[in-house]
Amino acid sequence: MPVPRAVTPRDDGRIDLLGLSRPQIRDTLAEAGLDEKQSKLRAKQLFHWLYHRGETDFTAMTDLAKPMREWMAARFIVGRPQVVEAQVSNDGTRKWLLRSDDGQDYEMVFIPDADRGTLCVSSQVGCTLNCRFCHTGTMRLVRNLTPGEIVGQVMLARDALGEWPRGTMAADASAGAAANDADEDEDSPHYTADGRLLTNIVMMGMGEPLYNFENVRDALKVVMDGDGLALSKRRITLSTSGVVPMMARAAEEIGVNLAVSLHAVTKEVRDEIVPINRKYGIEELLQACADYPKANNARRITFEYVMLKDKNDSDDDARELVRLIRKYKLPAKVNLIPFNPWPGANYECSTPERIRAFSNLVFEAGISAPVRTPRGRDIMAACGQLKSASEKKSRAELDRLAEEKQLALG
Ligand code: SAH
Ligand code: SF4
Repeated sequence: MPVPRAVTPRDDGRIDLLGLSRPQIRDTLAEAGLDEKQSKLRAKQLFHWLYHRGETDFTAMTDLAKPMREWMAARFIVGRPQVVEAQVSNDGTRKWLLRSDDGQDYEMVFIPDADRGTLCVSSQVGCTLNCRFCHTGTMRLVRNLTPGEIVGQVMLARDALGEWPRGTMAADASAGAAANDADEDEDSPHYTADGRLLTNIVMMGMGEPLYNFENVRDALKVVMDGDGLALSKRRITLSTSGVVPMMARAAEEIGVNLAVSLHAVTKEVRDEIVPINRKYGIEELLQACADYPKANNARRITFEYVMLKDKNDSDDDARELVRLIRKYKLPAKVNLIPFNPWPGANYECSTPERIRAFSNLVFEAGISAPVRTPRGRDIMAACGQLKSASEKKSRAELDRLAEEKQLALG
């Protein structure tokens, strides 16, 4: 079966290799004229240079013969998403506004912590769903991001943080092996002064990753490949608003940690604030969580719960949450997210006292329920605050059109 191609055509005729898997690179080389053996060998080398070394310049790929480097440079590029704007929050959170080749804007966020650094990656420009408390949800879906654009976010973050391995290939090989070993141990993140800041990835940026399943899967496979970026699947979390029919496939074909945006425990409230609930209800969703094959104690499912004043934050809500988690015997953890405001939002954040009381009730039932500290609010980088200029532009355009129409009518 042919491997689906993810090549973005460029004006200069060259092909961007960013985001391609090893077999896709091999096929691309074969199509450009290399024989089977050469394609396979060169694909292996290129994969290492692209994803392990972060190299974008073919002339620096020293284990390729010079004519081969030139041959490649004439036909291919190794691209990066274009950075439109980079901002730093007063708490150290960083946000990048990125632009695709066809002019679509999307955002990624890096959240440094004492023991880890988390990159929040977008999967779509906009979102088809419209959860009422989410800024991204006010955008229409512009389009799915390609695997190259998803992997590109991780590559760009590594560039920006200066985190590609240096030195000789041989030295790298042993360092890489040591890093992989360390990765297997959850309790010893290899976070050192000169080491990696980027240790974790969450698919929690713009968009619903399970509505862009294939591209997200292919991108994460590249990110997890041991010969490349080599991020352990234990350090990657995919967040879904509850696309029930795709959850089993996510477990099987991606296998990363799962976070589920629950946010409410009654049909009435969840129907209102997470409208996908009208299609896939709470019980169906929790059953899918129970079936998520990796859902054992070592790999608990995380339920995200945004704290909205007088909407979903009562003691009864907390008790019902506990009852549901117990009913489905879920090895779960609950992340309480104080609502992050954005212009035009119809909700308020629960009071700190209410959030504490809610958290305590869940804790007392033996379920971990930490309250997340909001990060990057000052630069609109916190959960649910992302909304790119793509849509702001089109909204401005809509306003202009409306105005013109008014004038014409007047
Ligand atoms: N579409 C996916 C992932 C992106 S959102 C999903 O919905 O799960 C990442 C998390 O931020 C989700 O749990 C989402 O519900 C939450 N979120 C959205 N808007 C928010 C806001 N204004 N304040 C706090 N959390 C928010
Ligand atoms: Fe989309 Fe997630 Fe926002 Fe809902 S919370 S609108 S699914 S990005």
